[in-house]
Amino acid sequence: MKFLLTLFTSSCFCSTLLAQSANNDEVYTPVPEKISGVGDSAPPSDAIVLFDGRNLDAWHTANTEQAAEWTIADGAFTVNNGAGSIKTKQAFADFQLHIEWSPTDVIQGQGQSRGNSGIFLHSQFEVQVLDSWNNPTYVNGRAGAVYLQHAPLVNVSRPPGQWQSYDIIFTAPVYAATGVLQSPAYVTVIQNGVLVLNHVEIFGATYTDTPEYATSCTPYGQTRQQDCSGRMPLTLQDHGQVVSFRNIWLREL
Ligand code: MG
Repeated sequence: MKFLLTLFTSSCFCSTLLAQSANNDEVYTPVPEKISGVGDSAPPSDAIVLFDGRNLDAWHTANTEQAAEWTIADGAFTVNNGAGSIKTKQAFADFQLHIEWSPTDVIQGQGQSRGNSGIFLHSQFEVQVLDSWNNPTYVNGRAGAVYLQHAPLVNVSRPPGQWQSYDIIFTAPVYAATGVLQSPAYVTVIQNGVLVLNHVEIFGATYTDTPEYATSCTPYGQTRQQDCSGRMPLTLQDHGQVVSFRNIWLREL
């Protein structure tokens, strides 16, 4: 046993020595932080929980920053039509977001008027939320789209009334100190466990004409302007339809 241990130790030492002498590509620091992953719907241990089913303390109204008044029931919150969109109190740069959503199964409209909400990354770039189960509309306006910019690769939507998930990896745009855009935003979207957008470039804010980025960054809250700091809140859209959300967490990258 002692011989084997010596041989093993010696072997590891030699291979390390060889690797370090023959190949300087091996890196030993910094050591990745040890965290717990997703388990039983619990978020990773380093996640910022934005909704745990109990309250909207992490959110306020998008326009006036008053108390968010969407409806909370059964561990989820639901768009309170007319109360307006809501946004996080905290601002974020690059992140991984998990969010679950469900359009109502009470069918009242069609196309963009059925189960429409949206997740506005940096409060400007909309990843569409829509009942896309059996609801034809333009493809770059379906669930999983960057609205009017990128259509989802596949339609993996579930019937209305069922819970669906997005896992979103967002890279924030970068502005120089002068306010000039240096690097655009990018997004990857996984819907219900399936890749629907693969690191696509975001061409600019949703609802601008082309779409486009602001010509110069200034603090958010003013139309078509971008926060120079690179950190902005996350906004959920009140589009006038009944859509619920639950289990929302975010990891800053
Ligand atoms: Mg929308």
